[in-house]
Amino acid sequence: MCGMNILVINAGSSSLKYQLIEMNDNSVLAKGLCERIGVDGHVKHSGNGKTYDKLTPLNNHAEAVKAVVALLTDNEYGVIKDMNEIGAVGHRVVHGGEEFSESALITDEVIAAIEACVPLAPLHNPPNLVGIRACAEVMPGVPQVAVFDTSFHQTMPPKAYIYALPYEYYTENKIRRYGFHGTSHRFVAARAAEMLNKPIGELKIITCHLGNGSSLAAIDGGRSVDTTMGLTPLEGVPMGTRSGLIDPAIVEYLCSQRGMSVKEVTDVLNKKSGMLGVSGGASDFRDLFDQAEKGSERAKLAISIFGHSVRKSIGALAASMGGIDVLVFTAGVGENHVRMRAIILEGLEFLGIEVDAEKNQSCRGEGDLSAASARVKTLVVPTNEELVIAMDTKQLTVNN
Ligand code: ADP
Repeated sequence: MCGMNILVINAGSSSLKYQLIEMNDNSVLAKGLCERIGVDGHVKHSGNGKTYDKLTPLNNHAEAVKAVVALLTDNEYGVIKDMNEIGAVGHRVVHGGEEFSESALITDEVIAAIEACVPLAPLHNPPNLVGIRACAEVMPGVPQVAVFDTSFHQTMPPKAYIYALPYEYYTENKIRRYGFHGTSHRFVAARAAEMLNKPIGELKIITCHLGNGSSLAAIDGGRSVDTTMGLTPLEGVPMGTRSGLIDPAIVEYLCSQRGMSVKEVTDVLNKKSGMLGVSGGASDFRDLFDQAEKGSERAKLAISIFGHSVRKSIGALAASMGGIDVLVFTAGVGENHVRMRAIILEGLEFLGIEVDAEKNQSCRGEGDLSAASARVKTLVVPTNEELVIAMDTKQLTVNN
């Protein structure tokens, strides 16, 4: 392999995020974002100590990948001499269905299998595939790897992933719990075990990935055994704009009471519910707390609903795996929002979770919040999904 740099790509419908990671020391050499692909085009890049921010026509994802390679090899903003210094490309792929319980080196068969998962993630898998094809076109011969949001949860037992619906909906339509944020849950659980200097095989860990999208996972002996998200990322705790778990009968009721179509209801559940729906103004937790401070009762209510739901899910997942040794907070809210963490943790002492308020207050980045008397360790572990993608990519491409 020529060079130990791995390009990590996260392709959305009109965007493409990237990082070039040097695998000898896991450092990020350059990163950026192409936006408004197919609309007009906007490229933001930082590399070589400089930032680049320009409107650039981008008709499709292949043009975006070309723009990325041009910037990575640029005299002023670049960090590598030429494309040969990109050893491999790792792609985030949202849905791997039951096909993928691990990351996969991309071949025609793998592309066909990702294609077969499109009905399960119609908004996400198609742009992920476009990103893969664009890289194959611009960087022929550079090995590519797919890393799935779902694969870590493939170890769940049927009692956790089969919905109590007619069984043929599972066998014929693939309806089951898949779970998401798998790269994040896997990474922070492994890091938590390292921080505690204990083999992950001996630990029952609950990981709380709390960001715009939020999910929790029960990880027993290093394997995901339960999680809050389901067939789609709409299930589980309420989120920035997603409802999370609701009574499924609400859909039909809304259709009849408000004359909405199922599509309209689904759109509301995804984009106008959660913190935004309850507060009436904010989906972002910083804005939500600002509004609560200014006296908004609905913002306060949204915060308490979120705290209640996450707390309840921690209890449910502890019961699901018969105990808890470690609780981990990660992602934007979990890593940074001191007050949201404190609200979630109120009343969990019965599980052995006790947090030192000072430690919660002063934690920056990685940290142990546990009180001296706590039976359960409560940790903050910053997630790094790009690094997981790069490490899997390296593992599947070096010496292959
Ligand atoms: P995504 O799911 O889009 O990856 P993130 O993990 O970036 O989301 O989380 C975004 C959320 O994290 C927002 O609600 C934001 O308010 C919150 N957040 C991000 N940084 C901070 C911070 N420094 N302090 C408090 N909250 C933060």
